[in-house]
Formats: sequence, C-alpha cells, structure tokens
Amino acid sequence: MAVGSAALEFTPDVEALTAPVWEKVRTRVTPIEWRLHAPLIAEINRLKREKKAVILAHNYMTPEIFHGVGDFVGDSLGLAREAAKTPARIIVQAGVQFMAETSKVLCPDKTVLIPDLRAGCSLAASITAADVRLIKERYPGVPVVTYVNTTAEVKAEADLCCTSANAVQVVEVAARTAGSDRVILLPDEFLARNVARQTSVRIVAWAGRCEVHERFDADDIRQVREAWPNAEILAHPECPTEVLELVDFAGSTSAMSDYVVKRQPRQVVLITECSMADNIAAEAPATEFLRPCNLCPHMKRITLENIHEALVRERLRGRSRAGDHRARAARGPTDDRPAASRAAGPLRSRQGAPPRRRGADLIRFAAAAA
Ligand code: SF4
Repeated sequence: MAVGSAALEFTPDVEALTAPVWEKVRTRVTPIEWRLHAPLIAEINRLKREKKAVILAHNYMTPEIFHGVGDFVGDSLGLAREAAKTPARIIVQAGVQFMAETSKVLCPDKTVLIPDLRAGCSLAASITAADVRLIKERYPGVPVVTYVNTTAEVKAEADLCCTSANAVQVVEVAARTAGSDRVILLPDEFLARNVARQTSVRIVAWAGRCEVHERFDADDIRQVREAWPNAEILAHPECPTEVLELVDFAGSTSAMSDYVVKRQPRQVVLITECSMADNIAAEAPATEFLRPCNLCPHMKRITLENIHEALVRERLRGRSRAGDHRARAARGPTDDRPAASRAAGPLRSRQGAPPRRRGADLIRFAAAAA
C-alpha cells in the first residue's frame, strides 16, 4: 500500500474528520471501500496544510479524489486558471500529463507534481512539435490554435491555445487577428469538425482522437433514446459529429456539470467519462444518472495512494516534465488573458528550426470544411 500506510487506519477521529466527504460519496462508494479511502483522505488533507500544497482535480477523477482531496475541481480551463493564481508552494495535478505541464507553464516557479507520469492522453500523443512545423509549412500564414490537450512543445508552436469550452471563440479571434479565413485547429479531429459547424471560419484539422469519446456512435444514442425516452442526453464535443447531432446538449465537462446542477433533470445520460456522473451526483440528488459511459485509463492511473505518495516524497520522478525552457516557450499560447485582449496584439512570429520532414504517411490531414 502507500508510503506510511502503517499509520493510516479507520479510527473514530478519521471517521469524524471525513464524515462530510462520506455524505457526498456514499451513493458511489461502498462502506468497505470507504474504510480504505477515509484514512488516506484525512492524511492527504493534513499533508496539504503542512506542505502548502493544493490539489487540482479534474472532473474525471474518481469521487473519493474529487470530493475528498480536490481543492479545485473542474475542467482543463478551470484548473489552469486556478493553477495560475494559487499562492501554494506545491501543485498536485490529479489529472493527466498535459494538465501538469500546463500548470508548470503557468507557474514555472512552483513544484508541480503528477502522481503517475504514465497518465497520458491519446490526443496529446497524436501530434508532435515537428508535425506542427510541417503543417505550418504547408499552410503558410494560417494561424494555429492548439487544444489544451497537447504537450508543451506543441503549444509552443501555436498562436493560441483553446479548450473545448472556448474553442469557437478562440478560433474566431485567431482568424480575425491574422486576417485569415482559415485556422488550423489541432489535434482533435472531432472537436475541429464540431467547431467548424459553429463558425464561418474554415477549419483545417488533424486526425487526433480522444480514445474515450471516439468510441461513442449514433447507434449508442439511438439505443439510449429508445430505452429512456425522457432522459436528457449530454455529450462532450470530442465525440463524433454524428453523436452531437442527436443529443440534447453538447459542452465541456464544466458546461455539462452546470447544465445538470442548474436544471436537475429527472434522468440524464452523460456521453463522456464515467466519473463525471459520479462526481455531479452529490449536487443533483434528484437526478438519475444512466449509462453508457467510458473509462479513461489514463485518468484512472491517479489514485489516493499515489497522490499521498507524491505529497510525502515530493518525488522527482513524479514532477511534471515541463522544464523552464518549455514553460517559457509555451507561455504565449497558454496565456489566460481573455482571448479578446490577446487578439489586440499581433500574433507571435513563427520562428524555430526548419521543419524536419517526416514520412508523408504520418501526416494525416482531414479538411473539415465549414
Ligand atoms: S478522456 Fe480523452 S482527452 Fe481526456 S485524458 Fe483521457 S484520452 Fe485524453
């Protein structure tokens, strides 16, 4: 078990300390599981105070992490904003590698820990900085917007960075600022296609995909409608377009959460990662959350045990790999100023080493015409 686990027992003190968390997760966590989770939650929260640390927990974390130890919870954009303004000495990223890199980019002087360096992302892994340079060579003068789900090196090649919550707005700002009718939006093909449906800007897309959301298809939605005709169906914009055309609402994880918490539908289906429903359930007690959903194997690498270990050891191998040079390079596109104010200035000049050509079979363009 985790470092120092010998002292981690389910005592009456631990039970009392963690009782408010138990109230939030009791419909999602069994009593037997809780006896294992509660001592870790109490100890992690003690360590956070001792070490001046905060935990940024993504919406796809399991409920014991999300409700038990997360100081700030939300989507990539919300967590990046919290990272930028926290006075804490240590940031523990309960999420995946690109999120920790983003935090490091925004907070180069802080220690950013990720509890398991293997927590990757199929989207971030789909494209390299060399790929982006090659694309820019092929589309000279066309601004590049990267989705936040990319490495710091890829962000450093871009003009602007977006999330699923603001992709349309950022694409339009990029086009307007560059005086271009086209924008390259990387790397999620489905997000790019879904943005293209909402703007007159022509979108050039890369064929990256989220391995969680690409697995949903139109048949899934039709079956859900047939089984639960009164359920409201919400989907993430990383899903295929055929899915989004059939659902009631499409939005980022935070937008889906806001939708459910404000409207409290009687039945809802969240076409996204499974922990979303578990985490919103505490704030929507009257809502019945129906499946299907898919698990993200990368997000699920983060556990209470390895969060505890990261805090105890402040271990080097758990630090974000985002070095200072990458942090400086990527700071421009990741800047959290409102897109409109950033647009007032010129886009960054595109410099760097000449592109090293890769095999053409590795360059997969998918034109997503508006
Ligand atoms: S859910 Fe998809 S986009 Fe998010 S970390 Fe997992 S693979 Fe990447």
